[in-house]
Amino acid sequence: MAIVVQKYGGSSVRSVERIRAVAERVVAAKRAGNEVVVVVSAMGDTTDDLLAMAHEITPLPNPRELDMLLTAGERIAMSLLGIAINALGFAASSYTGSQAGIITDTSHGKARIIDIRPGRILGALERGDVVIVAGFQGVSTAYDVTTLGRGGSDTTAVALAAAVRADVCEIYTDVDGVYTADPRVVLDARKIHAISYEEMLELAASGAKVLQVRSVEYARRHGVKVHVRSSFSDEPGTWVVEEVSAWSRP
Ligand code: ADP
Ligand code: ASP
Ligand code: MG
Repeated sequence: MAIVVQKYGGSSVRSVERIRAVAERVVAAKRAGNEVVVVVSAMGDTTDDLLAMAHEITPLPNPRELDMLLTAGERIAMSLLGIAINALGFAASSYTGSQAGIITDTSHGKARIIDIRPGRILGALERGDVVIVAGFQGVSTAYDVTTLGRGGSDTTAVALAAAVRADVCEIYTDVDGVYTADPRVVLDARKIHAISYEEMLELAASGAKVLQVRSVEYARRHGVKVHVRSSFSDEPGTWVVEEVSAWSRP
């Protein structure tokens, strides 16, 4: 049985309708015979809204409290998705980063994953559950809740894919793949069908926020195959892999 990790970004879960649509897609992967781990971001602009509230109180919120606040966004999305999957007649269980065994260093706001203990989520997969994990968060070696930096759900997904030895890590977003430049800004940007980790790292480092830089570093280090695609269509997206053969270039 293949293990698939699917990550849905904020715009893909921005409303209850979108969460229902995501649940349908997750269930389709499960029906096709896969074991499915889903990583979710917070709904829409939730993270920005939570940050704005904290900054309305003080310009320099306590980093520990800020992390506690921000992780709540992903928690809302993951539980609503669990409820939506249940409503389609499938078993699902959701886990915070801490419950999923994602251990980080103590650097609040930009914590690095240093270990993953996937026992609990492997057990849930074995039971037949769709496993849902809150993106962008973990628990530190000092037992505090941490966040992984903006865009960190990508890194949660890739790190979990490595830990459960998934066959693929699908990153679902609001564009249908990686382009030569931001397709919302550069109108004649071209879609790239396959790209190497090295080239993707360069793109990400130069500001293409479609994948967090750390997620690409992690994928390269662990050889995780990443497929960036749209949650709004069934079109194939962009494969991020070790080596790209000449024929697959655009
Ligand atoms: P998500 O909420 O799904 O994590 P993000 O907003 O973090 O999505 O990333 C997707 C966005 O990245 C797209 O809407 C697009 O505007 C932007 N982007 C910037 N550079 C690129 C690029 N080279 N290829 C594709 N998307 C890009
Ligand atoms: N919700 C977090 C953010 O807005 C994490 C993510 O979306 O990847 O940065
Ligand atoms: Mg993102």
